[in-house]
Amino acid sequence: MIPAQFDYVRANTLDEALSLLAQNEEAKILAGGHSLIPAMKLRLAMPPLLIDIGRIRDLSYIREVDGQIRVGAMTTHYQIESSDLLKKICPLLPECAASIGDVQVRNKGTIGGSLAHSDPAGDWPAAIIALNAEMIAASKNSERTIQADDFFVDLLTTALEPGEILREIRINKTNGRTGQAYVKMHHPASGFAVVGVAANLAFDGDTGCKKASVGITGVSSKAYRAAAVESALTGHTLDDQAAGDAASHATEGIDANGDLFASADYRRHLAEVYARRAITAAMKSVPPA
Ligand SMILES: Cc1cc2nc3c(=O)[nH]c(=O)nc-3n(C[C@H](O)[C@H](O)[C@H](O)COP(=O)(O)OP(=O)(O)OC[C@H]3O[C@@H](n4cnc5c(N)ncnc54)[C@H](O)[C@@H]3O)c2cc1C
Repeated sequence: MIPAQFDYVRANTLDEALSLLAQNEEAKILAGGHSLIPAMKLRLAMPPLLIDIGRIRDLSYIREVDGQIRVGAMTTHYQIESSDLLKKICPLLPECAASIGDVQVRNKGTIGGSLAHSDPAGDWPAAIIALNAEMIAASKNSERTIQADDFFVDLLTTALEPGEILREIRINKTNGRTGQAYVKMHHPASGFAVVGVAANLAFDGDTGCKKASVGITGVSSKAYRAAAVESALTGHTLDDQAAGDAASHATEGIDANGDLFASADYRRHLAEVYARRAITAAMKSVPPA
């Protein structure tokens, strides 16, 4: 439980962090430390240098800009959970944040650290996929946008290139009648998602589903878009029966993980149950027409 020896430097600005990272390809960014430090203690990660971005205030914010919600990568789970703005314009974000770990984890852990870590049982990836978010990745000389669907590549692997720091998450604000929900089966010890499902539904009239976005975490080596569930919902009148039918497609084309806690079959079953719950909760969250 003692990490291998490493050097530590605190960056005061994003530019400073990016320059340090460009000079030290093996270095790791330290955000809240709630995934990296445990991994270092278990010697699953042995970076020679940690670049601490925890004091860069410019990376911690929640803003509404040009019809978009913009969240800085260093914004903590708790800041998102307690944001009155987000509760009003994008309730899926605070709902997801509130489901993470415990108070200590939510006060230190950051959305950027969670996304960059791409834990297969992490909560944020499901919500970020369901919200069709864009990730802004900064490097020393440029910046690029990565769509949520392209960001999660595999177990603990994202599309971030060496030298890049996730700077911001952008989500287009939805207009009209929408319903959102995140539901999960918590791992009883850690709180991580054994299975977690985020649903983001846009309605036409009272119950007609205009667009459906569903992200699922916990089942597979990375979070994924449940495309078959979305097709079964889009263009249809939604009721409990339709929600159940659509949810039955939750693991279509997906290799489910099995471990000591949950077999692959059990995870597939949970994915269908929690997909139905997420869709139903999202339907119920829509104000009457
Ligand atoms: C007891 C416990 C319970 C937990 N329960 C849950 C849970 O229920 N659900 C859940 O989703 N998570 C859970 N977590 C994980 C927690 O949410 C972490 O905070 C999160 O996964 C990582 O965020 P961090 O800010 O701590 O990142 P760190 O641990 O500092 O970093 C994680 C990784 O991301 C990289 N990184 C960090 N920030 C950036 C960036 N901006 N750009 C590029 N790379 C970056 C780091 O180099 C590192 O590789 C739990 C953790 C603990 C210890």
